[in-house]
Amino acid sequence: MLKGNFPLDKFGQLQTPFYYYDMNVLRSTVDEVERQAGKADFRVHYALKANVNPAILREVRRAGFGADCVSGGEIQAAIDAGIAPESIVFAGVGKADWEINLALDHNIFCFNVESVPELEVIDALAARKNRTARVALRLNPNVNAHTHHYITTGLNENKFGINLADLDAVMTLLPSLRHVQLVGVHFHIGSQITDLTSFQSLCVRVNEVQDYFLARRIVLPHVNVGGGLGVNYEHPNHFPLPDFEGYFQVFRKHLHLQPGQSLHFEPGRSVVAQCGSLIARVLYVKQGAAKQFAILDAGFTDLIRPTLYQAYHRIENLSSDEEERQYDVVGPICESSDTFAKACTLNCAHRGDLIALRSAGAYGEVMASQYNLRRLPRAYTSDELAAH
Ligand SMILES: *Cc1c(COP(=O)(O)O)cnc(C)c1O
Repeated sequence: MLKGNFPLDKFGQLQTPFYYYDMNVLRSTVDEVERQAGKADFRVHYALKANVNPAILREVRRAGFGADCVSGGEIQAAIDAGIAPESIVFAGVGKADWEINLALDHNIFCFNVESVPELEVIDALAARKNRTARVALRLNPNVNAHTHHYITTGLNENKFGINLADLDAVMTLLPSLRHVQLVGVHFHIGSQITDLTSFQSLCVRVNEVQDYFLARRIVLPHVNVGGGLGVNYEHPNHFPLPDFEGYFQVFRKHLHLQPGQSLHFEPGRSVVAQCGSLIARVLYVKQGAAKQFAILDAGFTDLIRPTLYQAYHRIENLSSDEEERQYDVVGPICESSDTFAKACTLNCAHRGDLIALRSAGAYGEVMASQYNLRRLPRAYTSDELAAH
């Protein structure tokens, strides 16, 4: 798919490496989220940490999504993109005072609170401004997301959230905190979850938590079940859209809402991963002792997921139709971990060939660094390139 509609002739003038965002893929993904979430009036807060490219945020805003932010910088980016503050949620285990103050000043929808000390600080800072902060307790449901251990977040051993065993203590403390108002509960069990039964397990746990509050005659206005839906990194051409229908259906079927309660979601990766590719050039094809290396001008400073999580990205040679060969596809950075793929099958590669690392729209551009004093990768959308 990418090969067919990729305007190769223009790229001679563009410096590699760069991110390329296919806005048609993004728009159909966003539309599908809207359609499937709309069936049950679920609220969607796009997780900005997956990608904050302004063109992407424009589409998110157009769809009317709210924002899930994990820093003051992201809150500011969401507001700058025109996303309504009353649809912003703010998560994170280490919210700094200035970030809490910024969120209070904008009167955001909700703080997703991850610890007792954080709750006390939010209360104190809100008191100073004579405001009331709406908070949801981020509870650790101890559900295994069956994903890479670096991206599971919902187990008791993880640093995130308040353990269920500590809920009693929090509920006892809350009435004394007069500048926070409890409006919800929040969960997020991990990322790149492709087995929908993990979300079913989450629903069971959420229902138990609901019972806990009902027994205390507390009906919380909202429940937030976080993000985490995975994408198909192996076959981005055949499966450009994640199974949003099946995903939202799990919650419709298995999560019991109380009358008037709203259900909130925080998808990040599933919205933006498949629209993005990192485009690089082959600098050298090097014959090693037992294998060939295709050395790219992109490295882990441009796309760190393979290095950080042993993540797989499909790699395509956009410039060659020659017979396939095997390569270790590596970057130029002075670390052995700067390897995108080992024994990767590519159409025969030559110096100057354009290479696409697919499904790179989430946790790609946002994680770029300048290590080795490299330039940050640029980014172009299909809209911009079409206008060239
Ligand atoms: C990272 C994160 C998300 C988004 O996760 P995805 O796997 O990208 O959908 C949502 N909520 C919270 C609290 C997060 O930390």
